[in-house]
Amino acid sequence: MIDPFGRAITYLRVSVTDRCDLRCVYCMAEDMTFLPKAELLSLEELERVCGAFVRLGVRKLRLTGGEPLVRRNIMSLIRGLGRRLGDGLDELTLTTNGTQLARHAAELADAGVKRINVSCDTLDPAKFQAITRWGRLDQVMAGIKAAKDAGLHVKINAVALKGTNDDEFDRMIEWCGAEGHDLTFIEVMPMGDIGRQRVDQYLPISMVRAQLKKRWTLEEIDYRTGGPARYVRVKETGGRVGFITPMTHNFCESCNRVRLTCTGTLYMCLGQEDAADLRAAVRASESDAPLEAAIHAAIARKPKGHDFIIDRRHDPRSVSRHMSVTGG
Ligand code: SAM
Ligand code: SF4
Repeated sequence: MIDPFGRAITYLRVSVTDRCDLRCVYCMAEDMTFLPKAELLSLEELERVCGAFVRLGVRKLRLTGGEPLVRRNIMSLIRGLGRRLGDGLDELTLTTNGTQLARHAAELADAGVKRINVSCDTLDPAKFQAITRWGRLDQVMAGIKAAKDAGLHVKINAVALKGTNDDEFDRMIEWCGAEGHDLTFIEVMPMGDIGRQRVDQYLPISMVRAQLKKRWTLEEIDYRTGGPARYVRVKETGGRVGFITPMTHNFCESCNRVRLTCTGTLYMCLGQEDAADLRAAVRASESDAPLEAAIHAAIARKPKGHDFIIDRRHDPRSVSRHMSVTGG
């Protein structure tokens, strides 16, 4: 699948549910309305859509959400997709908040998952609760330990939040370096109404980097995971640190991915509203021909990029959906 700008589409992210057991302040409002369950694709339908993407050239699948591990019977989908590894699919992975990981880590490894991203913005229990509203840090730490014990490679995702975790970056680098986890810092993106001003949370990654450079030696490296992060090695810990900079550096030119929601809507760009309805195509026929045609038609209109802006002087350029709908 090649889009109009010559980019090969090899990476599908699937938001398997928009629901979550946490309410992170940058992601959701506390009183979220979720999609009616009747609108969701079944796990079998999701597997069928993923299978079609793999046949058409997708080599990497990431399950995300909402919280992927809160969807009932999610392991049956993960097992089914795991069987495609080596048969067109190179990598199956997921992004999780870690709350359910202690229960699932061993089974994930057994299904062929090798690496996972766990979101954790702070190592301070009180701050963790303040950021996630409903979360407990010890539960997530137990999940991360279970993942490591199961042989999964863990990458910690931390959203850089002004005035919240910007005094903890050194500590996170030390901890990840000691534990052998990669660490990625992410800029907050203007997605969905969260009941407060984005500009109050936004911390450009350039400032994170500048802060880190005061304490650490950051060596440029060529490491890539197929995602948008750019990595450095921290000389003192030997650990890798990635930076995802959708706001300050537009990484769209090398975009290789599209995103499927749990209702079968395909977004060709995280930061644009245009979408294709694959649910109708899945349900139209037992044959996958209409589905594959719908996927091709969607890729043919993948836009060049997003145009997010966070700035007090302008109307915020943002998208109305929450990150939990399209999946991070
Ligand atoms: N619940 C899982 C988790 O938290 O890892 C998966 C879904 S979550 C939407 C995926 C990632 O998106 C997380 O790392 C989260 O921190 C990040 N995220 C959520 N809202 C965001 C926003 N507005 N800007 C930037 N990152 C965001
Ligand atoms: Fe849930 Fe992940 Fe959003 Fe936090 S970032 S509310 S864990 S979906």
